[in-house]
Amino acid sequence: MPKLDRSAFYSDLERRLGETRASGLYKTERVLVSRQGPEVTGDDGVTRINLCSNNYLGLSGDDALVAQGAETLRRYGYGLSSVRFICGTQTIHKELEARLARFVGTEDAILYAAAFDANGGLFECLFDDSDAIVSDELNHASIIDGIRLCRAQRFRYAHDDMADLEAKLEAAASYRYRIIATDGVFSMDGTIARLDAICDLADRHDALVMVDDSHATGFMGRTGRGTHEHHGVIGRVDIVTGTLGKALGGAMGGFTAGRKPLIEILRQRSRPYLFSNSLAPVIVGTSLYVLDRLAASTALRDRLFDNAAQVRTALGGMGYTLKPGTHPIIPVMVFEAPLAQQLADRLYRDGVLVTGFFHPVVPLGQARVRVQVSAAHTRAQLDLAMEAFSAAGRELGILRPGRS
Ligand SMILES: *Cc1c(COP(=O)(O)O)cnc(C)c1O
Repeated sequence: MPKLDRSAFYSDLERRLGETRASGLYKTERVLVSRQGPEVTGDDGVTRINLCSNNYLGLSGDDALVAQGAETLRRYGYGLSSVRFICGTQTIHKELEARLARFVGTEDAILYAAAFDANGGLFECLFDDSDAIVSDELNHASIIDGIRLCRAQRFRYAHDDMADLEAKLEAAASYRYRIIATDGVFSMDGTIARLDAICDLADRHDALVMVDDSHATGFMGRTGRGTHEHHGVIGRVDIVTGTLGKALGGAMGGFTAGRKPLIEILRQRSRPYLFSNSLAPVIVGTSLYVLDRLAASTALRDRLFDNAAQVRTALGGMGYTLKPGTHPIIPVMVFEAPLAQQLADRLYRDGVLVTGFFHPVVPLGQARVRVQVSAAHTRAQLDLAMEAFSAAGRELGILRPGRS
């Protein structure tokens, strides 16, 4: 047995970090001293307009949620120090599961500590090597990992390509159960999965459908139920997974929703559920309040889409190239990685927080600055941000000619 060379191990890690830095892929963290919101204050004391959070409905720093959280803390305590099946289930956990199920239009739902866990603990409980999972190639890392943990045969279809999906369903025809797995909304492009076409193909080829609606739950569709509402296919999707960590208050937590026996199997078998702590009561109680608020009014999601339309029109009018769409994720295409970095840096100096994305997070030559709009942005904040975009675009020479 070779002797452990501890110093070699750690210097190897340093070398790998150096490579990450050299390739421009090293991720730094911006440190905030404020709540999450339409504006945030950094540890440099500067307040900037925030166009890069998943705080779609503007609830993350909302005073009413903070008050509800405080009330829940007092009543239900800070933590449960238990998994669900030992002594970690409170009435509010059962209520939230029932309410989430009703909200997304399924019979039942099960809570997880994160959507990552919901996806990670899904497939292996339901499928084995007699089955096939047909997955969009751009699906979220947690779906990919969940599928990896499962012994089912994997088929990957080209992103959003219905002809290729059909070809893969045909190739999977001999398997016992087939399931199509897709993000409801793809986070780099704001592309909305064509769930109507996907459900039609699923019907034609006898497949189940699973949608991860993390970038949709709470605002996509007329009443915010998700991508399936947007496409008129509520009731035709077998499994919906989602997060409490984006639009629904932004704390953390995830869920899987589906028919009763499916959820019951997950309660019995799903490893992240069985072997990880119960969701903190403060999140559970506050999420119930969020669902009450969304049931009472669609004002927040309506304002979100008004804001998104305003920003799309303004950026397009200035001569920026946008990925077309309607989702509040608005990719501003600059194509070259250094330009994405320069645009993000320039906007940061001008008081606007956005993130540049480039290869390998997005395909080579498809670098972009991703703008994300919130219902909480005021007209004045968005106008200021648009002035900064206009100045930066002119300075960097990335606006299409013939515009101002
Ligand atoms: C953000 C996201 C997740 C992870 O959600 P968490 O609750 O933070 O773990 C999973 N899937 C998709 C599609 C996401 O966008």
